[in-house]
Amino acid sequence: MNSSFSLSDPVARERRARLRAEKLLEQARADLSAANALLRAHAFALSDQVMSQRAELHDIRSHAQRLEGMNTQVAQDLQVAHSVADLADLRLHEAIETIPDGFAVFDAAQTLVLANQAYLGVFDGFSEVRQGIGYWRILEICAFEGLVDLAGAAPAAWVEQMAQRWQVDHIHPVELHFTNGMSVRLMDRRVPNGDYVSLVRNITQTLRYQAELIDAQTRAEAGAQAKSAFLANMSHEIRTPMNGIIGMADLLAETALDREQQLYADTIRSSGQALVTIINDILDFSKMDAGKMDLYPEPVDLEKLVHEVMLLLAPGARSKGLELILDFDMFLPRTIMADPGRVRQVLTNLVGNAIKFTQTGYVLVRAVGVGTVGRGGADLIHVTVEDTGIGIAPDDQDNIFLEFRQVEEAANRRFEGTGLGLAISKRIVTLMGGEMWLESQLDIGSCFGFSIPVPDPLCAERPQPAALPARLRRVLVISDHLISRGILERALVAAGVEVLAGAQTITIDRALTQGPVDLVILDAESDNAGDATLQRYLSHIPPDCALILLSSALSTIAGQLGARGAWQVVAKPALWRDLVSAMDVLLGDGAPCTDPLPPPPQDPPPRTDAPLTVLYAEDNATNRLVFSKMIKDLPVDLHFAVNGREAVSMAQDLRPDL
Ligand code: ADP
Repeated sequence: MNSSFSLSDPVARERRARLRAEKLLEQARADLSAANALLRAHAFALSDQVMSQRAELHDIRSHAQRLEGMNTQVAQDLQVAHSVADLADLRLHEAIETIPDGFAVFDAAQTLVLANQAYLGVFDGFSEVRQGIGYWRILEICAFEGLVDLAGAAPAAWVEQMAQRWQVDHIHPVELHFTNGMSVRLMDRRVPNGDYVSLVRNITQTLRYQAELIDAQTRAEAGAQAKSAFLANMSHEIRTPMNGIIGMADLLAETALDREQQLYADTIRSSGQALVTIINDILDFSKMDAGKMDLYPEPVDLEKLVHEVMLLLAPGARSKGLELILDFDMFLPRTIMADPGRVRQVLTNLVGNAIKFTQTGYVLVRAVGVGTVGRGGADLIHVTVEDTGIGIAPDDQDNIFLEFRQVEEAANRRFEGTGLGLAISKRIVTLMGGEMWLESQLDIGSCFGFSIPVPDPLCAERPQPAALPARLRRVLVISDHLISRGILERALVAAGVEVLAGAQTITIDRALTQGPVDLVILDAESDNAGDATLQRYLSHIPPDCALILLSSALSTIAGQLGARGAWQVVAKPALWRDLVSAMDVLLGDGAPCTDPLPPPPQDPPPRTDAPLTVLYAEDNATNRLVFSKMIKDLPVDLHFAVNGREAVSMAQDLRPDL
């Protein structure tokens, strides 16, 4: 074994070495190849990574570029925003500078944020008053530096009080008076973001105007008072000489004058009377204008008052042939509370106008209750004055109650007047708590009305209509005035009497054939009847039939009745209570009537030879003369006192009868 081995050994060893080397080489090759593959794979991976990183870098770059673009935009926008904000700020500053009033804004901590020059100017010389100063400090400067007149308050207390003002939601305005003469009104507001806005309005001028106005008003009032005092004095001063003129003209007219002189005297008298009316109107009007007209209410028998006014104006109506009619609601309260003088004045004006502006037809005064009438009273009494005159055009009606207004028409200007009557009447009615109105149609007529409020207590006292005599069952009413007849008929029917009414003698005949008539009421002025017509009527009425004549000429009518039996005359316009009394006298059973006629005038006391001693106190010489002349034919021993003192002492010595 050793020998074989020894021969072949180097070769084997070499072979083996070669084999080992080949194996090693192969291994090395395999390792190299594996390493190559690994390297290749790594290289690929690396290249992928590089590529993706490159793409990423690209994205980042473009994003960066985009961001850069956006940044530029933002910078530009910011710049624009800055300039807009600057412009707004500028505008705000310029705008608040144009406000003449002081304007300031404080933030929620009450630090001054913004103020215009008008605000800051007040604190000239106080450099600390600028943006950033606190409200409290500003108040301290005002108080402690003597800028504001504190009206006696202690500066610290004033500051405290002013600061407290801002502690409420709705801050009340306050007026401040600066010691330099300026006055301001402080108006502060809390705005939603918590800021305070303060507006300081300069009211120096306004207060000055106000003071001037108050001064002017005081002076005007003093002037008006002086005027009314002047007028009150003048009323006496003007009336006294007017009295002299009219009185003397009266006396003159009674002396022996020829026709021309008589005309002059009458003209003086009528002109004087017209002037007195105008003066009275103007004085009344001035009195009202100065608020000096007072009412003096007292219990008034309205029906009687209306009747008196109508009787007074009746002659004017009669001279024109106008029928004057009164229709007074018999259920109205007998007495009302009113100022009789002023009610009479209103009625006189309305009825006077109605007669003045009516040529034919009638003037009807009607008084009715309005409101709760029929249930024991009335809230209001309506008095209307209706005429059949020239009427008033619609355009003129609106202004008719204004002072100095008259209808400017030829038809109207024939009439005298001041144009004050209606204005005064309306004011009186308003003062009484009533109203005044007008309804009118041109060429047809007018109806003026006014209301008088009736206080409740007096309403309760409603009159019971007077009972008519029991014997009175059938009455014949003869009148050709349709309205008067209708009113009378209605009242009689309401009183439970059978009424026959008409205008002609034939009515009388027809009525009499139907049965006996207890009473005839005859309007003696029917158809402006002359004596002959009246006699014709009378001839158709049996002489023993009770008769009531209605007439406004009381004194002359009696003579025409001859030897008739029972008759009575009642004044026109007829008052219902007068008619009832007349019926009672004619047909009553002797019992006292509910509402007697006024007693007949008593005979004057028998004259003694001794004259009456009269003491007359009168300071006006003309009036003394007028009066002495007026009574010169009377048995009077007249003494004058020219003042009150003299009157008292003379009265003691003289012991006059009057
Ligand atoms: P005057 O003193 O002028 O009558 P009024 O104030 O009483 O003053 O009346 C004013 C005007 O109203 C009258 O001038 C007239 O034009 C008109 N007027 C008043 N009442 C009537 C009436 N009943 N009919 C027609 N016009 C009237």
